[in-house]
Amino acid sequence: MPVVWTSHISCFSCGKEFIINRVTVADANAAVAVMPCPYCKAVPNSAQPHRVNYLQNVNLPYRRKSGCQVWHCSQ
Ligand SMILES: [Zn+2]
Repeated sequence: MPVVWTSHISCFSCGKEFIINRVTVADANAAVAVMPCPYCKAVPNSAQPHRVNYLQNVNLPYRRKSGCQVWHCSQ
């Protein structure tokens, strides 16, 4: 199963934040260079992309053995 992210993005033009849900890292990186801003409609390009604030993992690969209190990240 591919790791899925919620991408928090700031517009390069107006600076407002919007979110792209459930994308791969490659999709998130592609979106910042092509996706128009929902607020000001500014269209980015590769020289002037939106800024990725952070990526939040949607389906975290954390695991915990039964009977054990310690969570393991298997990434
Ligand atoms: Zn904008």
